[in-house]
Amino acid sequence: MDMPSETLICSGLVERIGYKNATISYKTNGENLQQTHHIETHSQGLERVVELLLDPKKGVITHTNEIKVVGHRVVHGGNSFSDTTLITTEVKDKIQEYAALAPLHNPGNLEGILVAEEIFPSAKQVAIFDTAFHQTIPEKAKRYAIPTSLYEENGIQVYGFHGTSHQYVSEKAIAYLGKESSKIITIHLGNGCSMTAVKDGKSIDHSLGFTPSNGLIMGTRSGDIDHAIIFHMVNNLGYTLDNVKTLLTNQSGMLGLTGHVDLRDIQAEAENGNKDCQLALSMNAYRIKKYIGAYAAAMNGLDAIVFTAGIGENSSVIRQLVCEDMEVFGLNLGTTKNNKRSGDLREINTTASKVKILVIPTNEELEIAKQAYELVT
Ligand code: ADP
Repeated sequence: MDMPSETLICSGLVERIGYKNATISYKTNGENLQQTHHIETHSQGLERVVELLLDPKKGVITHTNEIKVVGHRVVHGGNSFSDTTLITTEVKDKIQEYAALAPLHNPGNLEGILVAEEIFPSAKQVAIFDTAFHQTIPEKAKRYAIPTSLYEENGIQVYGFHGTSHQYVSEKAIAYLGKESSKIITIHLGNGCSMTAVKDGKSIDHSLGFTPSNGLIMGTRSGDIDHAIIFHMVNNLGYTLDNVKTLLTNQSGMLGLTGHVDLRDIQAEAENGNKDCQLALSMNAYRIKKYIGAYAAAMNGLDAIVFTAGIGENSSVIRQLVCEDMEVFGLNLGTTKNNKRSGDLREINTTASKVKILVIPTNEELEIAKQAYELVT
């Protein structure tokens, strides 16, 4: 990204790291390629990316020192970071410390930082925390009903995640609606899934909590669960606490229900009549519906809901399941508009719908680039 012009020079994505068929997509003005590799770790993935960046034919830089700033999305910043921060040894120590609270993310984020420091030694490394946008959640929504000392002394509270994405799409939605005073629910559905109630541009409630495990059904995470199930598994079913943690974090969600983690596979199976996949899709959508109801109540109204991220932007099936039978909240989906594919902001409600239903492609990279550039200049 060239800053401050916000010109995109090249973009790409490494997907399915750790699975058999990891893919790298890479796009520049002259090149649009997709490769399949065996990529075990995040550092192997980043090394492949740098090979492409430096490639004499397909690359966009001739030396790594042309990269001045690397912006890292970091999932958990706890109470230590409410703003974008230059990465120092202390910052890395804190990211490591918070790995206990975001075991699927902070270790990968830290690995990315360490590899980037090696590969781009002259660049400034900047961390942008997912938790920052949610600092405005009021106490009545961010506190858990457990003894106050655990909040005051141990920082146990809702932190919230996917902040750069919720911030980016809610700002776009506000600009689209053309009114500052607005009640919007942003629905980020990727590998991790979360929803935010955004009132007048500020996050006032959010479905992920102390860690990114609460709320919606995700790729491998269960989302909301009665915590007494954990005690039952440990006390009566022979699980250790570590087993339960692995089960709820890595083996549950859509994977636990269907054996598949990628929604594209689940949709295809469901279409072929697979009952587990059909049920998982309706469970997934049902949970989202419940949060829409809760957040419409929290804001005493609703102007728009926004779908974003891999699933939210691409799955007309999930959007359809979420929006059906929701007339009570003023939601009326336009089926043809929903089924149309496009990479731009689009309105997919009928003209009669009281509430706008928007699909807004998230652009966490641009938000990260803007925040990192602002910090270093
Ligand atoms: P992350 O949370 O890692 O940023 P993404 O936002 O990239 O994830 O979303 C990844 C998910 O999006 C994949 O698991 C896949 O299920 C889903 N996805 C991507 N493309 C499609 C599609 N065309 N239809 C349905 N789901 C899709």
